[in-house]
Amino acid sequence: MTTSDAPFAARLGRVTARLDDLGVDALMVSVGPDLPWLTGYEAMPLERLTMAVVTRDGRCTLVVPALEAPRVVARDHVEIVPWGESDDPIALVTERVGAATRIAFGDRTWARFLVEIQDRLPDATFVRSNEVTGPLRAVKDGHEIAMLRRAGAAVDAIAADLQAGRIDLVGRTEAEVSADLGRRIVEAGHHRVNFAIVAAGANAASPHHEAGSRVIQEGEVVLCDFGGTMFDEWGVGYCSDITRCVWTGPIPGEVADIYGVLHEAQAAGVAAGRVGVACEDVDRACRDIIDAAGYGEFFIHRTGHGIGVEEHEDPYMVTGNTDVLAAGHCYSVEPGIYLPGRLGFRLEDIVIATVEGPSPANNADHALAAIG
Ligand code: ZN
Ligand code: ZN
Ligand code: ZN
Repeated sequence: MTTSDAPFAARLGRVTARLDDLGVDALMVSVGPDLPWLTGYEAMPLERLTMAVVTRDGRCTLVVPALEAPRVVARDHVEIVPWGESDDPIALVTERVGAATRIAFGDRTWARFLVEIQDRLPDATFVRSNEVTGPLRAVKDGHEIAMLRRAGAAVDAIAADLQAGRIDLVGRTEAEVSADLGRRIVEAGHHRVNFAIVAAGANAASPHHEAGSRVIQEGEVVLCDFGGTMFDEWGVGYCSDITRCVWTGPIPGEVADIYGVLHEAQAAGVAAGRVGVACEDVDRACRDIIDAAGYGEFFIHRTGHGIGVEEHEDPYMVTGNTDVLAAGHCYSVEPGIYLPGRLGFRLEDIVIATVEGPSPANNADHALAAIG
């Protein structure tokens, strides 16, 4: 691929058009996923300001600390403005928005910069950058879908190792298995590990359990939910996210029954994800099955989240979200059943909405594997 194939000019065009539609004069983004999505540059999380300013005339300026400037890859549509240690970066960004009265400001940009910028622009009102970029980032192009499939295939292979018993569990701590998963995530081509939840036995009843010193025993569930960020050729990272559960020993009948409900619910949620369907109906498809089996009160979170340059982003599969699925939406379907003090199960795939129907980016086996 050459620089001219880079997706950034097209993204800037979509952002500018949306600023027009929303009557927003400028977009200011810093730390977080909007900036790399727009420019291929990820801001260092520093007290020194890095910020891209986009105005409705289609100009994009990247104000960056001079010492970071060597890391910035020049892009045709981005003017790079380095600032030195005695310069005033707040002035550099505020002078670029001119007389703007409505500004979309990075969701993840540090509050200190918003406070300082508000001080200099007393007449401006601020909205969240997600109002501008959220719906645009949610619809992936072919390259982004290919990246999400690549990241998905990488974690599928780790899940297959887990299910085949090639990752030692019994006798190790959750934290040791979590570190093992993290190493594998990087070896599989990700540039960083985002999380590696390992929850054994009753710990699995806490959906975001922090892997700890608990030693994994025979005859219990081990829930593993893990993912990382894989960079494309332009330095934009795409996330993976998968959950599989295994059982350390022969599976008791009652456990198989509970898992069977979850398995059926997750498949129904995946199948429900057709273009034009409301996001809340994907949630409903999972929840109806879990409710009917009597476990509704133990499914304590939404069914899923969009995924892309951010691990959790639009669109969300949750009751009340009547936004409809469009081709190119990528999101998780991850129902769970959590029995406090006993066990928990979650089953998660990333799914891509296409005109031909839902297309999973994860294809690891969905059964509860019994590890010998
Ligand atoms: Zn989560
Ligand atoms: Zn997950
Ligand atoms: Zn997830």
